[in-house]
Amino acid sequence: MNVPVFDLHCDTALALLSEETCQPVGKLAKRQGHIDLERAKKLPGYCQLFAMFTTPNMGPHSAQTYFNAMLSNLQKELEENSQRIAQARTMEEVQKIADSGKVAAILSLEGPAGIGFDPGRLEELASLGFRMTTLTWNEENPLAGSHKTGGGLTAQGKEYIRRAEHYGMALDVSHLSDKAFWEMLDIAQGPVSASHSNSRKVCPVSRNLTDEMFKAICETGGVAGINLYTDFLGEGTVDVETVCRHILHFLDLGGEKHIALGGDLDGCERLPEGITGIDCWPKVAQALLGHGVEESTIKDLFWNNAIRMFDLCSM
Ligand SMILES: [Zn+2]
Repeated sequence: MNVPVFDLHCDTALALLSEETCQPVGKLAKRQGHIDLERAKKLPGYCQLFAMFTTPNMGPHSAQTYFNAMLSNLQKELEENSQRIAQARTMEEVQKIADSGKVAAILSLEGPAGIGFDPGRLEELASLGFRMTTLTWNEENPLAGSHKTGGGLTAQGKEYIRRAEHYGMALDVSHLSDKAFWEMLDIAQGPVSASHSNSRKVCPVSRNLTDEMFKAICETGGVAGINLYTDFLGEGTVDVETVCRHILHFLDLGGEKHIALGGDLDGCERLPEGITGIDCWPKVAQALLGHGVEESTIKDLFWNNAIRMFDLCSM
């Protein structure tokens, strides 16, 4: 099925750099890995969030150095490939860029170590076009506890949430602890989303969402992006059908307007059988059709739901 793809999470910005030297090691135009502009041509419309992923211990350099290198390298890539990809800050821009046949790129933040966990930096990031942020990666930090460590929101974390919403950035609970998740739900005014998290009922790992969490996300107007990371999909043979199981379960919970895509591409060590990169999302759409999911619902999952959520964040 030919359907445009709106993907809420990838680690391509980091994969374009050497972790040792912080220097570019690949080109967005054509590369190994999971995402490049060559494969993007196969999609009839494509918007990708590029996460600037940082954690305090990621290599020989500081998180701030990685963050700055990732951002300036991605900006350089966007300039070099301006006939094929352009940065979008609003959903109107996403649509315009997609209509012109280009890839729409949106900046996001995963694990705000690279900005020193400083809520005071969010205004500047929003002005650069950052539209979504997690509070943590896998470690506990000055903002909140992670799914691995447990622990709730700190006062600084609450301030971070307040400012992110103020500047129209979508709140992303992926990697957050359950405790901090529910505390965020209590104070958030707008949509709360999970950029790359699956169903914990289908695959019981702490990175995934319980049914109650998913329903709470739906109530805020948020979305959950389906992750292609095999460890979060299931055990044994993991393939396109395994991906469908998570989507079908969220659909059973009434999630047709709240399921999106968040492939974690270029961050996954192993992908489901039959999936090699960004151009493979249509295989999932095709499989969903086979399960009797309406074409209009698939278009919502693959594109419209993410647009609707971001529009709510900027209101
Ligand atoms: Zn992640």
